Amino acid sequence: MVYINGQPAGKLIIQLAPTGMIPSRGDTPNVPITPEEIAKDTNEAYRLGASVVHLHARDGEGRPTYLKEVYGNIISLIREKCPNIIICVSTSGRMDMDIGHRSEVLSLRPDMASLMMGHVNFSINPSINTMDTIRRLACAMNDRGIKPELEIFEPGFINTAKYLARKGYLKTPLHFNLLLGSLGDMPADFRDLAYLVESLPPGSTWSAAGIGRFQTQITAAAILMGGHVRTGIEDSIYYNYETRELATNKGLVERAVRMAHELGRDIATPAEAREILGLERKAQK
Ligand code: ZN
Repeated sequence: MVYINGQPAGKLIIQLAPTGMIPSRGDTPNVPITPEEIAKDTNEAYRLGASVVHLHARDGEGRPTYLKEVYGNIISLIREKCPNIIICVSTSGRMDMDIGHRSEVLSLRPDMASLMMGHVNFSINPSINTMDTIRRLACAMNDRGIKPELEIFEPGFINTAKYLARKGYLKTPLHFNLLLGSLGDMPADFRDLAYLVESLPPGSTWSAAGIGRFQTQITAAAILMGGHVRTGIEDSIYYNYETRELATNKGLVERAVRMAHELGRDIATPAEAREILGLERKAQK
């Protein structure tokens, strides 16, 4: 059992990020690209205990796409196979900054959507998110009853979230996803995660992911600190960065489940995860 302030930590939400925008078939044959492949990997993760899936869509050539038809296809296949799983879509502007494109997927009324709180200089494409873009995406989510998952890459992003909550653009309690270890991002030492968590507004929920080789240490730290975890090929294409053993989504989720059991956190079901995250809506059909 993990104790936080002398109290048993609650159940652990495991989020799968199966695809992302960057991994290609050339990088790893294990990255799911088509709606069927994404739904299959999600279903395997769901059976192991994942209660949230963070989705990116790809076109027929394997390139990132914003088109809601593709997202719609993925979401309906997943909802068929994984009742009640929490669907969190990406509104990333890493490849395409057009606000209309980025918000198109919100018309499908997923449970949650990612919302980055600032810019990041990734090694391949920068992710640009102006204050105006963030406000407009937040309003589009609020109008549709979609809970934002606030993506945090460095401490200034948390200040932005607090400011937007004060101004009424974000409804509390907030949910944060803390992503550590990318180039241009917060490093992924334990102290970095602890600092981010300390900086969150009281009453918030949070999950964390270590990018690339930092995945395992951040997963362990998040489990021990009472947070939640995200894992998947979007964040780490290797299972072991020393041996270059390629990851599968199933293998990464299995490892997170194993670590949670060893360290003493029970895994949340989708219904329990909805409760923890304060999601008002039930799963859509
Ligand atoms: Zn993503």
